[in-house]
Amino acid sequence: MPRYDYECDTCGKRFEASHGYDAPLPTCPDGHTAVHRIITGAPRLLRGPAAPVSYRASKEELRRKWAEETPKLRKKMVDKLGEEAVSKFGGTLNATYDE
Ligand SMILES: [Zn+2]
Repeated sequence: MPRYDYECDTCGKRFEASHGYDAPLPTCPDGHTAVHRIITGAPRLLRGPAAPVSYRASKEELRRKWAEETPKLRKKMVDKLGEEAVSKFGGTLNATYDE
């Protein structure tokens, strides 16, 4: 039997399972059924509880952060380059957060 590596989508636990090529997906040792196979050797994506908080930031948080940070950043640029340059070349600094 070939052995495969799996990762649980629910709790992030990794485990191995031995089964035939066309067998159904195994379940996580904790009983979760949402699992996916890991292709050994491929770079591992950050996901689940181990992912940094920024990856899980909600749209609300992003919007708030944008509204907070952008005017400050824009002011810095205006101090440095002048209002005209920022208006012309500021790009997203002149925009409001928009989905
Ligand atoms: Zn699990």
